[in-house]
Amino acid sequence: MAIIGIDLGTTNSLVSYWTEDGAKIIPNSLGENLTPSVVSIDENGEVLVGKIAKERQITHPELTASVFKRNMGTKKIYKLGEKEFLPEELSALIIKSLKEDAEHYLGTTVNEAVISVPAYFSDAQRKATKRAGEMVGLKVERLISEPTAAALAYGLHLKDEDTKILVFDLGGGTFDVSILELFDNVMEVRAVAGDNYLGGEDFTQVLVSLFLKHHNLSVKDLDKKEYSMLRKQAEIAKREFNNNKVVTITSKINGSDLSLDVDIEEYEKATKHLLARLREPVERALKDASLKIGDIKHIILVGGATKSTLIRSFVSKLFGRLAYVNINPDEVVALGAGVQGALKGKNAQIDEVILTDVCPYTLGTSVSVRRAQGYYEPGHFFPIIERNTIIPVSRVERLCTTYDNQSSINVDILQGEARLSKDNIYLGEINVPVPPKPAGEEAIDVRFTYDVNGILEVEVTVVSTGLKKRTIIENEPNHMSKEEIASCIEKLAHLKIHPRDQQENKLLIARGERLYEENTGEIRKQIGEILREFEDVLDKQDPRLIQKTRELVKQTFDSIDIKGEF
Ligand code: ADP
Ligand code: MG
Repeated sequence: MAIIGIDLGTTNSLVSYWTEDGAKIIPNSLGENLTPSVVSIDENGEVLVGKIAKERQITHPELTASVFKRNMGTKKIYKLGEKEFLPEELSALIIKSLKEDAEHYLGTTVNEAVISVPAYFSDAQRKATKRAGEMVGLKVERLISEPTAAALAYGLHLKDEDTKILVFDLGGGTFDVSILELFDNVMEVRAVAGDNYLGGEDFTQVLVSLFLKHHNLSVKDLDKKEYSMLRKQAEIAKREFNNNKVVTITSKINGSDLSLDVDIEEYEKATKHLLARLREPVERALKDASLKIGDIKHIILVGGATKSTLIRSFVSKLFGRLAYVNINPDEVVALGAGVQGALKGKNAQIDEVILTDVCPYTLGTSVSVRRAQGYYEPGHFFPIIERNTIIPVSRVERLCTTYDNQSSINVDILQGEARLSKDNIYLGEINVPVPPKPAGEEAIDVRFTYDVNGILEVEVTVVSTGLKKRTIIENEPNHMSKEEIASCIEKLAHLKIHPRDQQENKLLIARGERLYEENTGEIRKQIGEILREFEDVLDKQDPRLIQKTRELVKQTFDSIDIKGEF
């Protein structure tokens, strides 16, 4: 039985485990460390996860889902053909695939996982992530913030010095900045800030927009397939900027081959607004931690998008120095989750570290305030746990009645930074009866408790009667009953997952289908023939012949797929 660390990314997911030599990434059935966070359903109703699903995003967009982490914790429904999924169910399928990769690799069952989440994830998003793991039979006692995981991976917790670290994590769709402090073998997250709607994909989108604008097209002029193909070409071009000053984006639209050359200056100009948005959370995190850039000892780069030279030079300019990139930014979070797994298992090497984290948003309630004219005006936010308070934390505030003979008090549970309650996010409420008395004579104690997994509990006690009411935030947008969870588990258990020993064949066919659509004329015909022959070979079920043919087909596809895969 083993415990694994999972980085459940918006774009890519990874799994790691702890060895005597530290945490190691476990490759998937295709031998790759990164599993794209994409899910697809094939014609037999079987589930495909990862790279195969990513290929099918182009050929079968209506049967494929991606970037669903952005809607984690909501009830948004993804329709894949006949089947419907919640974001957490799609995530569960990714986790299931990672779990199987780990079991296959380690030769043992895996029953427990540490899963990372963006530091800025809300309570509902965290709970949904935890459920996703549990739906596929994993015990998920610990969620870890991605930046905290990154610092663990760098082993910074093993250093004696007192240090302040800034983690700059730019993934596909989220941006997190965290400031951590290390002292006396304790690691504390001092501040987090971020943008849940900013990531490497936005940079790809800039290139898509430049292309469309140049050809006087709008997104509406493209069908789903054309759009997916264009995005893919833009993604390739974006990476080419790391080594080239000019890149070419080519895509087929409405039957004609269109292309655009973009030079680096133009790209820099077009992404200026995105770079500006990167600056703001950095400044906010520093301010919340009462620190200046100069106080930061180490800067750690995390997330695939920090592999871009544009981002790296932006970071060096912003901080006036180079950042840590000794560990592959793609893998650092997953490795840290693996370290945390070992930490949980009380591994001798690192068990002296006490890990703390912070609450990413301010949590509070709504109160009435007395205006100069003497009346009480309701709807003012009253913070109870301030953002960036170290967790676990439990805070209590006493509130009293505001009018004579008031018979009950309603405690709203809110999350956010705005002055007025209506501008913050409503999480739930608790209503308690109080004995009717003159205004101000009855009071309640409102206790907010935020645990290490970022889960909030609220307890209200009526001071005079001792009556207590506890959370279970009834109106939590994402609340799921036991029955609902059971039915998700049931549904996932009945889904047929494509067998892992056939993944390579399936990938080759998915790739061939994509190439078929991307090409025309003779090449297209040739691809069609190769696919047919390969399918015939598969039908014969002779493993040696299959392997030989697979190699040949792969070589041919490599020569056609000039820009390669990634
Ligand atoms: P997430 O944490 O959201 O799953 P990742 O950390 O895997 O995301 O980062 C994915 C992003 O990184 C994508 O937007 C991708 O385009 C970008 N990316 C990956 N490699 C490179 C590269 N070499 N140059 C520029 N961007 C890259
Ligand atoms: Mg990530």
